[in-house]
Amino acid sequence: MKDIAGVWDYVRGFENLSLCDWPGRTSCIIFLGGCNLHCPTCHNHQLAWDMHSLPVIDPQRIKSYLRDRAGWLDGVTITGGEPTTVPGVGELLYEIRKSGLPIKMDTNGMRPEVVRDLLQYNLVDTFAVDVKGPYAKYPALTGNGVSEIAARANLTRIFELALARPEAFYFRITRVPGLTEADLAAAQDYLPLEYELTVQNYVPPRRTPEHAKPNHEERRPAGNVVN
Ligand code: SF4
Repeated sequence: MKDIAGVWDYVRGFENLSLCDWPGRTSCIIFLGGCNLHCPTCHNHQLAWDMHSLPVIDPQRIKSYLRDRAGWLDGVTITGGEPTTVPGVGELLYEIRKSGLPIKMDTNGMRPEVVRDLLQYNLVDTFAVDVKGPYAKYPALTGNGVSEIAARANLTRIFELALARPEAFYFRITRVPGLTEADLAAAQDYLPLEYELTVQNYVPPRRTPEHAKPNHEERRPAGNVVN
């Protein structure tokens, strides 16, 4: 088993309260470094590709926060980066589970075997899966992080998992530059029938604080917010 300290080394941001990240719930957000894609529109590129430039968050501070504040939080959001790429992420989730709070994980869906395992071991309650666009556009949308064929295979597997556990998934897409209405419709058609693809508007990366208008793509890890 991997050393838990090594897993916590991937925690490079923490937000103590979000009212919008998990629809209908209050949650805190844990940001994990590293990603298997290289999307040119990424808002968390420092976290995704250069996590060592961000400070490590003290695990004890997060654990204490979860222990003391669990009563007025509805859940914990795990985001990145891409959380499914973190070695030993299951051990981290196991620790967070001790708070008794539901866990939502954001994912690009390109590691369906990890999603399957986390579901199987009941370490995640809800996956928020980002569909990037039509499969044919995945190479362009992900900085050649994944081929059209691999994107199709991975998301097809995710959709199979969602059919088996419909309560554990929802799907969203961000209207990034270059995506057309036809692209959005094509992505919607990939989903199993009962699912609606949530379309989010793209907000260009923030240049100055006054431009702040956060959505899930516009969050940045904050390292010093645990009281
Ligand atoms: S999958 Fe998400 S975190 Fe990774 S590069 Fe793309 S937008 Fe950034």
